[in-house]
Parts: sequence; structure tokens; C-alpha cells
Amino acid sequence: MTQQTEQFKDFGLDTRLLKALDHLGIDTPTEIQSRAIPAALTGHDLIASSKTGSGKTLAFLLPAIHRLIKTRALSKRDPRALILAPTRELAKQVYVQLRALTSGTSINITLVLGGENFNDQLKALRREPHVIVATPGRLANHLDERSLNLNGLELLIMDEADRMLDLGFAKELNQINEAADHRRRQTLMFSATLDHAEVDAMAEKLLKSPKRIAVGAAN
Ligand code: ADP
Ligand code: MG
Repeated sequence: MTQQTEQFKDFGLDTRLLKALDHLGIDTPTEIQSRAIPAALTGHDLIASSKTGSGKTLAFLLPAIHRLIKTRALSKRDPRALILAPTRELAKQVYVQLRALTSGTSINITLVLGGENFNDQLKALRREPHVIVATPGRLANHLDERSLNLNGLELLIMDEADRMLDLGFAKELNQINEAADHRRRQTLMFSATLDHAEVDAMAEKLLKSPKRIAVGAAN
């Protein structure tokens, strides 16, 4: 059972994250946050679902940033975390929250969206961001062009995995998975529903012994 009095400070998150949350006026986790954050902090892969508006973004961003702050990079140059979202708008929303949460840290973030200037993105990627927030199609284009290397990726996060698959991004997700394939990668997959055959199949391929968290609904 979830305790009513649980607060973000009970998860052992880095104080810079707690300060950022305080600044945003957020102190009490939603149910998906209460369940996903401690599970993700143990380093497990996760497949998690809860309805739209339930706070899934913080459920993956907080443990992800905590890990980046607390652990030494596998590689000095490659991106450490990649967050994929199905559309430009959703990726931008994730980026805005990520910026707000990392303002007290030295984490660099680059946003890589379809429909934007490719060469500008190349330049931004050459600055070696720690975190990339991207739409899958454009990220795959950069892999094709060898403008980035995912060998050092420690965290792969898929937001709205059901929608990414509905939009036909299975091929790109597979390509990204293969480019970022190493033992120490943690993979977090979030979806509005887990009742989706393609999400199941993708989870089977991309996640290692995942914890399954389904809040509400028929899951
Ligand atoms: P989802 O991805 O599940 O649709 P979001 O992560 O976009 O939901 O969150 C929806 C809204 O709720 C956002 O405006 C966010 O800032 C706010 N929010 C998230 N978590 C909390 C919380 N623990 N307390 C108060 N507001 C929150
Ligand atoms: Mg969301």
C-alpha cells in the first residue's frame, strides 16, 4: 500500500533534485512516482503504465538524473542518457522539465527533433551532451549519419512507448536499441497502457528482467 504521507525526500534523491522540486512547488509523489522511482533507483529495468496526467515524466526523470549525478560516466564523450518521445511537442515538454530539474547541476542536454535543421543538431551533438531528448526518427537519422555514438549509453528511456509504436517507430527503436547495446544499460519504458501487444513485444526485446508497474485500469 502507498503511504499517504510519503514525500519526495523519502526516496533518497540528490538534494539538488529536492531543491528543484521545492522550487516547482511539488512535494508529494503521485502513485506512479511512488512506485516507479524507488524501483528505478535500484537499477532495474522497468515497464510502467499509468494514465495521462498522472506524472509519468517525473517518474522517469528523477531517478535518471539521480543516477547521472551519483555515478561516474562510462565514457567521457558519449551521451549517458537518451530519452525518446513520440512527437516534437512531447519531447519538448520532457526537455522543459529536464531543464528545470537539472538547473543546479552541470548536466548538458540537447534536444533532437524531426523537422529541425540537421546541421545545427550535428553541431549541438559535437558539444557532447550528457543527455539527449529526441524523437525516434531523427535520432535514427543521426545514427545513420554516424553523428553520434551510443556506446556509453547508461540509460535508455522510452516515454509513451505505446504511441511511438502506433506511429510506426518500431524499426527506429530496434535500431537505437542495437546501437546502445551493453550490459550496464538501464532501460525504462513508460506507456499509458500495457495492454498493447506491440509494447509487450518491444519490452521483451529491449528490457532485461524488468519490473512491471501498472497503476489503475485493467492492467
Ligand atoms: P503524464 O506523463 O503521466 O501524462 P505529466 O508527467 O505530464 O503526466 O504530468 C502532468 C502534470 O502534473 C504536469 O503539469 C506536472 O508538472 C504535474 N505533476 C507531476 N507530478 C506531480 C506531483 N507529484 N505533484 C504535483 N504536480 C505534479
Ligand atoms: Mg507523459
